[in-house]
Amino acid sequence: MDKVFKFIDDTRNIFWEQKKKEIMVLIDPSTGKAYQHFTQRVDCPICDIDDNFKVFEKEGFDFVKCKSCGLLHVNPQLKPGVSESFYKKSLMATHWVKLQTTSKEQEWNASAKYIPALEVLKELRTNGGRLLDVGCSVG
Ligand SMILES: [Zn+2]
Repeated sequence: MDKVFKFIDDTRNIFWEQKKKEIMVLIDPSTGKAYQHFTQRVDCPICDIDDNFKVFEKEGFDFVKCKSCGLLHVNPQLKPGVSESFYKKSLMATHWVKLQTTSKEQEWNASAKYIPALEVLKELRTNGGRLLDVGCSVG
């Protein structure tokens, strides 16, 4: 099992280093935020209003919460075309998909993340409702 963890650690470290390098093209070093010419303010995708407050910042992007419905989302967001262009040139994205689709990573994800998460969800699912997974990476 140590070999599996070593492989996952090594592979993930390559990904994180690549991500750190690539994301810097989007970030204005004078502000630490995404360059304004790459971004635009967006309305809440549920309410169609732009009335929110900042919850936290991650990697140069603000995560805000809609005052009306409570949806947490990134605002401002990359303009259409910017993220597509970024990901097309990105070795990081290719590396991430490669990592996520290895059997070792999938085994580790299942035992360390998915099965424990399903156990928590089972306890929360008391009324038989349905779940929607949004932002599930490579699926
Ligand atoms: Zn909303």
